Amino acid sequence: MSKNLTKREEDYSRWYNELVVSADLAENSGVRGCMVIKPYGYAIWEKMQAELDRMFKETGHSNAYFPLFVPKSMFEAEEKNAEGFAKECAIVTHYRLKNDPDKPGKLMVDPNAKLEEELIVRPTSEAIIWSTYKNWVQSYRDLPLLINQWANVVRWEMRTRLFLRTAEFLWQEGHTAHATKVEAIEETERMMNVYADFVQNFMAIPVVKGIKTANERFAGADETYCIEALMQDGKALQAGTSHFLGQNFAKAFDVKFTNKEGKQEHVWGTSWGVSTRLMGALVMTHSDDKGLVLPPNLAPIQVVIVPIFKNHEQFDQIKLVVDDLVQSLKKLGVSVKFDVRDTLSPGFKFNEHELKGVPIRIAVGPKDIENGTFEIARRDTLTKEIVSKDGVVHYVSNLLEQIQNDLFNKALDYRNNHITEVNSFEEFKDVLENKAGFISAHWDGTSETEEKIKDLTKATIRCIPLDRKNEEGICIFSGGQSVGRVLFAKAY
Ligand code: AMP
Repeated sequence: MSKNLTKREEDYSRWYNELVVSADLAENSGVRGCMVIKPYGYAIWEKMQAELDRMFKETGHSNAYFPLFVPKSMFEAEEKNAEGFAKECAIVTHYRLKNDPDKPGKLMVDPNAKLEEELIVRPTSEAIIWSTYKNWVQSYRDLPLLINQWANVVRWEMRTRLFLRTAEFLWQEGHTAHATKVEAIEETERMMNVYADFVQNFMAIPVVKGIKTANERFAGADETYCIEALMQDGKALQAGTSHFLGQNFAKAFDVKFTNKEGKQEHVWGTSWGVSTRLMGALVMTHSDDKGLVLPPNLAPIQVVIVPIFKNHEQFDQIKLVVDDLVQSLKKLGVSVKFDVRDTLSPGFKFNEHELKGVPIRIAVGPKDIENGTFEIARRDTLTKEIVSKDGVVHYVSNLLEQIQNDLFNKALDYRNNHITEVNSFEEFKDVLENKAGFISAHWDGTSETEEKIKDLTKATIRCIPLDRKNEEGICIFSGGQSVGRVLFAKAY
C-alpha cells in the first residue's frame, strides 16, 4: 500500500493510475491493454451491475447470452457497423497449436488447422444478435423484443488506461426490436434516461444528456444519445450511449414481421451500453489526494469500526458495545465491518480505509466506552464528530444519505462552474488552455468544421445537449450560421 499518492495537481493522470492500483481496484496484466479487476474493484462493479440489472428488469428487459465469436461474413452484413469496428478487431484464424519441430518446448500455429471462415471476437454484438432475431421475430406479437446481455467485448485500442479504455472490457449491451420507429426512439430515450438516473442518483455523478454528432455516432446507428460527465481535471468522459439503429440491422439481417394488417415490414432497433469505464468515472469524479472517495451506494463497506485498545480487557469492553452497534446497522441494511485485525495499528487502519474510500469510519476507545460515545469520521470531508451512543444508528444512516447527496452536489457545482460559453475561437482556445471543462459554443453543423477544430485543439463535440436553448448564432470557427450551442471538450 503506497502512503503517498502523487497529488492531483502535480500529475492527474499519474494520480489516477496510482490510486486505481493502490486502492486495490485493478492492475495491469500480462496481456497488452487488458486489466485484472481485483476483488475490491469487482465488488464495486457488482454493485453497479446489481442496480442496473434491477433497472433494466423494471423497464421490461430480460437477460440472455450470445456467443463471443462472430463469423466474418456475419460481421460484414451491416456495412457501416463493420467498417466502423474493422480497425480494432481481434480475429481468430486457427483452432490448434502443435509442437514446433525447430524449437523444442515451443508451440506453433498448426497450418493444417486454419478455420474455413475467420471469427471476429465481438467488439459489440449487433451482428450475432440480429442474425438470431431473424428467427425470433415473425409477427407483431413477437414485438417488442427487449434483451440485455452482460458480457465482455474486445476492441483493439492502441492507447489504453485502466478502466477508462481497455482492449477487453466488461459491459452490458441492450438490443431491442420494435414494430415502429416511434417505439424504438422512445426506447432509445428511455434507456438514456435510465443511465442518467443511475449515474446521477447511484454514482453521484452529474451528466449532460445529449445527442452525438455524425462524426461521433455509433457505426451503424441513425442516432446516438449519450450521457457525458466531467472529470476533476476538466476533461469529459462519455459515460453511456444509447443508439437508435433505425432499420439498418433489420435490413442487413432480413428481420421482418407481419404487422396487424398482415403486411411484412422490417423491425426497428436500438442498442445501448455502459461499461467498466464507469469505474474510471467514479474514481475521477469523487476521489482526492488521500485516495478513493466512494458514494455510500457503491461502497462495498459503508461503515468501518476501528477499536482502539491497549489490552484484552479494553478490547472486550469495546467489542460488547460494537457488536450491538453492528447488529443494529446490519438490520438497517448498512454494510459494516468491525476491523479487529490485531497486528495493525489504528493509524494504519485509518489510512487504509481512507485510501479505499470507506464513507464512514467509527473509532471506539476506552474513553468512548466511559463516556458512552463514538468518534465518527466522514471520508468525503475528512471531518470528525463525537456522537452519543444513543441515536448513533440513526445518525449513521442519515449521514450515509447526506454523504451521497453532498458528493453529488459537490460534483454538480464543479461541473456547472466548468461549462463556459464562448463566442470566438480565441476565447475557445483560451478557455480550453486555462480552465478546461465543457465549452458551450455555436457550431455550423458540419463535420468539416468539427474535424478542423479537433485537429487544432484536440477538443471534440461531446454532445448536442437535449435541453439546449433555441438560439441563433455564428459558428466560432467558420462564421457560418448556427441554430444552437453544442458542448465541446477534451475527452477521455
Ligand atoms: P459504444 O458501443 O461504442 O457506444 O460504447 C458503449 C459503452 O462502452 C460506452 O459507454 C463507452 O463509453 C464504453 N466504451 C467504449 N469503448 C471502451 C473501452 N475501450 N473501454 C471501456 N469502455 C469503453
